[in-house]
Amino acid sequence: MSTTAPGWLEGSVALITGGGSGIGRAVADRYLAEGASVAIFGRDAAKLQTVVDASADPSRMMAIAGDVRDADSLASAVTDVVTRFGKLDTVVPNAGIWDFNRSLTRLSPTELGASFDELFEINVKGYLLTVQAAWKELVAANGSVVMTLSNASFHPAGGGPVYTAAKFAARGLVTQLAYELAPKVRVNGVAVGGMDTDLSGPSATGLENRTIAASFARSEITGNNPLIPLHHASVDPVDFTGSYVLLASKANAGNITGAIIPADGGIAVRGF
Ligand code: NAD
Repeated sequence: MSTTAPGWLEGSVALITGGGSGIGRAVADRYLAEGASVAIFGRDAAKLQTVVDASADPSRMMAIAGDVRDADSLASAVTDVVTRFGKLDTVVPNAGIWDFNRSLTRLSPTELGASFDELFEINVKGYLLTVQAAWKELVAANGSVVMTLSNASFHPAGGGPVYTAAKFAARGLVTQLAYELAPKVRVNGVAVGGMDTDLSGPSATGLENRTIAASFARSEITGNNPLIPLHHASVDPVDFTGSYVLLASKANAGNITGAIIPADGGIAVRGF
């Protein structure tokens, strides 16, 4: 007889966009450890396959290449997941880019407009298209959506105006979609704070190959930042995954929808 306690997501099936790196990958590995089967969706097929091969159980993980701006590839991803694993319980819209705090005072009108278009297409439209592709399966499974939000969904200085506006918009999606998809589907979010990841920027401003981990922001997120009460807390994405498990769990969060867990070290405590 096994003495191992069952995971919180035993037997469930999840689809995570941007699951090839950063918090998406960490959530994928954690969901797997909690007993789920997991599909990771992203732009780079080879990179995704490497993540699957390195996972604790590649037989319960699949890689799907595609772009979250493309409704057709999201629709076929959902079909592939259901064909392989039989259903879809949880969708994590997570794929995103950052604007590296570019202020409107530093960008030309052309750069600002192009940055806005590219970032909103991925961070906001991509989230919307992801849920639209999945909602019928989520209704069938009595499932849920867990969106990756940010401290920038509530507070200034987590990015420039384009990123902050996009993360506020994604917060709006949690509220509206929780309303629209009730009572069958729960929709919640995790507002993560600074993490050491590959988060990159818009090609429109030449930031597509830069990462937050290799930028000035690294010292802000890993250093002794007095604006963050828990400033000594880890910035390893692995340590942000617990909220995603809770919100995906029917047994433990079956009465929670429209909620956003701030996993940002307590920024709101400082009122900033
Ligand atoms: P990351 O770059 O490691 O992960 C993002 C993933 O999304 C990457 O694998 C990338 O290839 C993928 N992606 C980007 N554009 C895509 C597209 N058009 N189609 C498909 N996949 C695409 O960075 P991360 O920090 O793990 O970012 C994940 C989420 O976390 C983002 O929504 C980001 O805004 C949010 N976030 C990050 C931080 C942080 O400090 N790193 C803080 C708050 C919120």
